[in-house]
Amino acid sequence: MKKLFLLFTAACTALSCLAWGQKGHDVVAFIAEKHLSTDVRARVEAVLDNHSPVYYSNWLDNASHTHEYAYTKTWHYKNIDEGEAYDAAPVNPSGDVVKAITDITEMLREGGLSHEKEKTYLMMLIHLVGDLHQPMHMGHATDRGGNSHRIIYFNRDNNLHSVWDGALVESAHKWSYTEWQREIDRADDATITKIVEGTPNDWGRETHLLASKVYQKTPQGFKASYDYVAEWTPVIEEQFLKGGLRLAHLLTSIYGK
Ligand SMILES: [Zn+2]
Repeated sequence: MKKLFLLFTAACTALSCLAWGQKGHDVVAFIAEKHLSTDVRARVEAVLDNHSPVYYSNWLDNASHTHEYAYTKTWHYKNIDEGEAYDAAPVNPSGDVVKAITDITEMLREGGLSHEKEKTYLMMLIHLVGDLHQPMHMGHATDRGGNSHRIIYFNRDNNLHSVWDGALVESAHKWSYTEWQREIDRADDATITKIVEGTPNDWGRETHLLASKVYQKTPQGFKASYDYVAEWTPVIEEQFLKGGLRLAHLLTSIYGK
């Protein structure tokens, strides 16, 4: 039993540097689904072998731990240290979340891929647009995106990355991904148009700015509880909505021809 527990803890630690929790990715993918035209949705589901975007929204977090997809380990984030300008930050030669989204979108737009390759890229894109909107995926390199930034969350030792991935999301609302969508996916057309403006690089810069605010308000050793949840819940809702709308926008730009 103890061994099992240790294994479980190790798996969580390894996963923690890769993703919003599963809930976040499901919400982002489901909001995206809701904003696809019937035609685009049919094309997307055909590429996904009759599955929905939600079905594959978490796939890459597990796949990145396999030998076959180990090359995608650095694609889930882009770290920029304090005092470093976003646009001048050194590019990780193994790739980062902004570069991966930009390149994959381009390849899917160009077309001419085998079915298997197209499906794989699409599964990656669905996941990575979610990660792009988790502030700690645009965090500092020195603390591995907040993974070694210790804080106390409801009287328990935790770290900033893990809190933002999952604990804070679950403290905000005990909703299923469909309930999250129903409650937060209510922007009017003018707001949606504004949200989907720009490029993945612009969206990454915006998330990085948000990360800087999170760091500022959550110093090492910070004791976070109810007031922290109250302060950041609207931001989490906004990040999920932005991620979903922008994913729908990219999918429409690829398949809406
Ligand atoms: Zn991830």
